[in-house]
Amino acid sequence: MASQAITSDQLVTCLGNKLMKIGTAKSEPGKTTTGWLELTELPTGGVERIPVCITEGEKDGPTLWVTGAIHGDEVTGIGVAQDFMTDDIAENLRGNVVCIPILNPSGVRTEMRNSYYHDEDPNRNFPYGSGEQNCPQTVQVLINERIFEEFARTADALVSLHQGWVNESMYTIVERVRYGEERSRDEAEQLADETLELAEALGLPIIHEYEVGVQEEYGLQSSFECAAVNAASVPAVTAELGSPHVIEDKHLEAAIEGIRNIMCVLSMLPGEPCETEAPKSPVDYPVKRVDGPVTDVPGIVRHRVDVGDVVVTGDKIADITTPHGKVKTTIETRKDGYILGRRQGIATYENDILVSMAARDDSELVTEST
Ligand SMILES: [Zn+2]
Repeated sequence: MASQAITSDQLVTCLGNKLMKIGTAKSEPGKTTTGWLELTELPTGGVERIPVCITEGEKDGPTLWVTGAIHGDEVTGIGVAQDFMTDDIAENLRGNVVCIPILNPSGVRTEMRNSYYHDEDPNRNFPYGSGEQNCPQTVQVLINERIFEEFARTADALVSLHQGWVNESMYTIVERVRYGEERSRDEAEQLADETLELAEALGLPIIHEYEVGVQEEYGLQSSFECAAVNAASVPAVTAELGSPHVIEDKHLEAAIEGIRNIMCVLSMLPGEPCETEAPKSPVDYPVKRVDGPVTDVPGIVRHRVDVGDVVVTGDKIADITTPHGKVKTTIETRKDGYILGRRQGIATYENDILVSMAARDDSELVTEST
């Protein structure tokens, strides 16, 4: 009987769990290796591909994924992913770190949030739910499936790096964990605890994700981070690192410190997490992501609050003026919390969002699937 040829993928599997191959990147003990994961062939020739760096520790341990630029204009994460793996980390590492500085290469080339294939948000197209799809899927969906397959096969934790609105501060979003079909309530609580532990180690103010109904209206159940937690049961945190378009060095350094702390918590590095220089939450109660208030009157927005300001119900958020400067209305908040970001642009149509807020959250982080 003729012997069957062993493929390189099988060989990698035979050699043990530690050795890891993603695209052309193949890990080597004690080293950082680089390669490419091909995503799709381009219509005009050439291939869309993303850069992959794998650092394999000399000792066994979990695998942490660190990813940047799923939104093409959110670039500080690229710098973080490029910089945080230093020789001293590699020498002391248990387990593997998979670093993908750019998840949305077409968005980075055009400096746009979306990919340009069909102008879709790549972070609303990850696999979630039953997987049954009845209409033809776009290339962005196929690309995300290919990335997520590698992620689900290899990852034990995820740090996904983003940026928000102009002049926004830094914070960490933690996902709401579903139970029911996906997992038991106890398992969901365990996963939520693991996620919170990573978020606390990252050292930035913690924000619970939008309430589930809002999240689903925004399509955020198909974000990378929600799919990681809820479809792959991998604890994941979203680090929001300030304003888009430029690499912000102060935020980059805080994120690098925070990721090292996460690696300590995961026992991938020796020692305890260190106190970071990052700003702390200005309130002492749990908060969730909320968009609003909105304006019911169109006009020119003149904010009365700045990023980081603590507000209580009834506080004035913004005036809406005529082009000449006469105040048409003043909008108040109906929630307690603090300001995460102010609306970009001053021309507001009716029902436009004026600020994003971290608002008091009395709900649990685990939630029953509907
Ligand atoms: Zn983003």
